[in-house]
Amino acid sequence: MNFQVTATQSGSLARTGVLETPNGSIKTPAFMPVGTSGAVKTLSAEEVKSLGAEIILGNTYHLRIRPGEKVIEKFGGLSKWSNWNGPILTDSGGYQAYSLGRAKNKLSKITEEGVKFRSHIDGKLLFFSPENVLDIQRSLNSDIAMVIDDCPPIEATEKRVRQAVYRTTDWAKRSIEYWQQQKMGEQGRALFGIIQGGLFKELREQSAREIQELPFDGIAVGGVAIASEGKEKINKAVDYVAHLLDKSRPHYLMGVGEPADLIRMVDKGMDMFDCVLPTRLARHGSFWTTEDYQLKTISHAAYTEDSAPLDQNCQCPTCQKYTRSYLRHLFMVNESLAMRALSIHNLSVLLELMKRIRASIENDTFKTEFSDYVS
Ligand SMILES: [Zn+2]
Repeated sequence: MNFQVTATQSGSLARTGVLETPNGSIKTPAFMPVGTSGAVKTLSAEEVKSLGAEIILGNTYHLRIRPGEKVIEKFGGLSKWSNWNGPILTDSGGYQAYSLGRAKNKLSKITEEGVKFRSHIDGKLLFFSPENVLDIQRSLNSDIAMVIDDCPPIEATEKRVRQAVYRTTDWAKRSIEYWQQQKMGEQGRALFGIIQGGLFKELREQSAREIQELPFDGIAVGGVAIASEGKEKINKAVDYVAHLLDKSRPHYLMGVGEPADLIRMVDKGMDMFDCVLPTRLARHGSFWTTEDYQLKTISHAAYTEDSAPLDQNCQCPTCQKYTRSYLRHLFMVNESLAMRALSIHNLSVLLELMKRIRASIENDTFKTEFSDYVS
């Protein structure tokens, strides 16, 4: 992998760059749609590509359970198998192993060796280690693989977060060692490390130092993923490390995807984002507009006879073809086209926003253009 910074914004940590992977290059800052189980929910790979996405994220946990990475390996990896044919990033699966396993049967357990958990589908006992999650991601033929980390809930105690930072560093070292020993970085594949530390400044700083000492291709900030965690918490966790991040490597903020958060986090030097929000919100009938990037709900009675598109300024296929009235009706009668149409629109809003952000950084106008969001 190769990463080049192409422009920087004065008075900000915002920058544009180009990330080259074995399956193509990506302009940053970039938003990565999430294809949880091999597809961005309700959409085809071709549709996602036509909206301007250059990289998608696949979930190791879900693909490990169904159909199993060996099936996908037979087809040359996830990118080919799904007809995406472009760059992919895969997570380690650790977060889902812990959270889904814990939610379903309280049986997932983190030890020094890794995470023991039961499949949320059939209860089968499974195990993720720093080494075997890299094997799985290699079978998926990821362009960018993620290390497994210990990611406690954001409200965890300082004692628990300290333990997570210690374990995350220990696992990061094992990951790098295995990655190098197995020559997994050949052909330009990349491995990213993850900074933990919750909402504790000293622990975030320690984790940033320890992770960046290792020769990772990129650096991720983890542990702020859940949308409900709130803006203050995301701000805090990122502020503690933003100035410490190695400028020569790409910075990936995991799980953040509200439009206003994307703008604020680009200002803090973040280059890559992923989030299930655009498609999850669409399935619940919610959409953003580019006017103020606030959420609206299609079920609103005022839309019953509204002949306008979801967003007057949006060029996406949904806004070119359908009225709010029709989309509201589809949603009210549970037609799956409503979910697809809103998913297309929401993804388009985020991907177009990233395009606008990149252009403004190149023109050195990011701070003025987005002054409503950044100070
Ligand atoms: Zn639209």
